[in-house]
Amino acid sequence: MDRLTAQQRHKNMAAIRSKDTKPEMIVRKGLWSRGFRYRLNHKRLPGHPDLVLRKYRTCIFVNGCFWHGHNVTITNNHEPITIESSECCKIPKTNREFWVAKIRRNKERDKEEQRKLAAMGWHCITVWECELKPSKREETLESIAFTLNHIFLQDHGISPRPQITRITQIGQMEEETQMPLVAEEEI
Ligand SMILES: [Zn+2]
Repeated sequence: MDRLTAQQRHKNMAAIRSKDTKPEMIVRKGLWSRGFRYRLNHKRLPGHPDLVLRKYRTCIFVNGCFWHGHNVTITNNHEPITIESSECCKIPKTNREFWVAKIRRNKERDKEEQRKLAAMGWHCITVWECELKPSKREETLESIAFTLNHIFLQDHGISPRPQITRITQIGQMEEETQMPLVAEEEI
């Protein structure tokens, strides 16, 4: 359903677009409380990343699912190029072509900016708005923290406790392969 008037939608989208939006605040607070320190909206870096963690050579973008077309399907093997809505990016039925073009441009720009950052030696992490809803929030923040630590260890050529990890993994694999055999013998 497309219940908003054009004016209301304009107001909503302007609010979504503004800085210090809620999803970004969730990421900032979540990382700060886990001991990560960052700079905000670095003006000199491509795409003005929302958070920049120099120590980790990492830029974090907190993307709204609508504006950045999260999980949409783009069909570009024939004209006109179409975009299929996803769970969290519903393309309005009114002015559909306008929104398709807009979201497509945004996605292309995101890709280009991240390509430039990578060429400059930065890692990029994209966090989606839908991954920050209350039920997923903690898991997402934990996974960002894990990724940052992993990047840091890799950049410094330190393997994270290799032996212990390997032993645990082998132990688990052995358990998994033995279990079904025992069950079959009992039948
Ligand atoms: Zn999403």
